[in-house]
Amino acid sequence: MSYNLNISPGSTIGIIGGGQLGKMMATAASQLGYKTHIFTNNINSPAAQVSNKVTVANYNNHEKLVSFASSVDVATIEFENIDSNIIDIILQKTQVYPNKKTLSIAQNRIKEKTHMQQLGIKVADFVTINNYENLIYHANILGYPLILKTATLGYDGKGQYFIKNQSNLKQLSSLNWNQEYILEKFINIYKEISSIIVTGVNNTSEFFPIAENYHINGILDKSIVPAKIHQDIYKQAQMITLKIAQSLNIIGILTVEFFITYQQKLLVNEIAPRPHNSGHWSLNACNISQFEQLINAICGLPLKPIKLLFPCTMQNILGQDIYNHNNYIKMPNYHLTIYGKEEAHDNRKMGHINIMDY
Ligand code: ADP
Ligand code: MG
Repeated sequence: MSYNLNISPGSTIGIIGGGQLGKMMATAASQLGYKTHIFTNNINSPAAQVSNKVTVANYNNHEKLVSFASSVDVATIEFENIDSNIIDIILQKTQVYPNKKTLSIAQNRIKEKTHMQQLGIKVADFVTINNYENLIYHANILGYPLILKTATLGYDGKGQYFIKNQSNLKQLSSLNWNQEYILEKFINIYKEISSIIVTGVNNTSEFFPIAENYHINGILDKSIVPAKIHQDIYKQAQMITLKIAQSLNIIGILTVEFFITYQQKLLVNEIAPRPHNSGHWSLNACNISQFEQLINAICGLPLKPIKLLFPCTMQNILGQDIYNHNNYIKMPNYHLTIYGKEEAHDNRKMGHINIMDY
């Protein structure tokens, strides 16, 4: 397999995953003259609505993965909860970003935090938990409050259990103990921020401005750019982001989520080797979106120097709010994006609205 980071318009970009990130990637790709082929397990998924070709199959369907890979010039992923061995299957036929190591680290909170520690990057104190006795033992050593998370497959606060004190432990005895967990010290957070880096040909990188993120029930509620944080913290966060991207040989995009403590210390929370919800403001508030810059990177086009054009608040629209977004669109300076999901469940991300401070 030879690497050819020189993919011209008219070529086909393969996207594994059919969610809203895939949809916005496919739209950006089309804008730049590329075709897209989506690999998804759901024909009605958002990305399938705007792409040239769709393969509907389970993510473990080896044969379908091989024929998908054979039909595209480069591939990427839009969610990280797939078996990282898929990367090897795709690699037999075409180039794919991110690489397998990055995917396997990003999809497992224990590997992720261990990788950060190996780089000398600070994270919340944590320990791996395999059974209930283990939990009781380590909870008392780490000290409360704590947060227990499934090591894999968690997103939008799913698979997380807040442990305020010892009396909360008992109800966790009935968890599914056939899987691994990570027990983390619950951090008293001053602010949450995220930093997005895109790396392309010749090792060139571009940073999106850092966003300030507000969560409700572990789900992103809004992101605000530019983040109102100390310049030193801003620069430090970018240096850490670059260090992580370099350690993983990223080509494409990487998001790093941070906590800032009240002592003004940075802790890495998690990473994602794909466009990120906390970067959706880039669709309207920047001279280039995170999706378009990703396409530039994986097709070998030069990266565009990134400029924030306007301060912006990105407000997520969840299932329970889907019929309430009229409240927001009374404002003149908004851009509405609705993902086109079939069903609006509570706490499911259905769209977002970018409110610009022109
Ligand atoms: P997800 O994959 O669901 O985004 P995160 O680990 O990012 O998982 O957790 C979601 C949110 O929960 C975080 O953005 C943060 O607001 C809160 N959270 C997670 N871990 C901690 C922690 N150790 N201390 C305090 N808050 C946390
Ligand atoms: Mg997160």
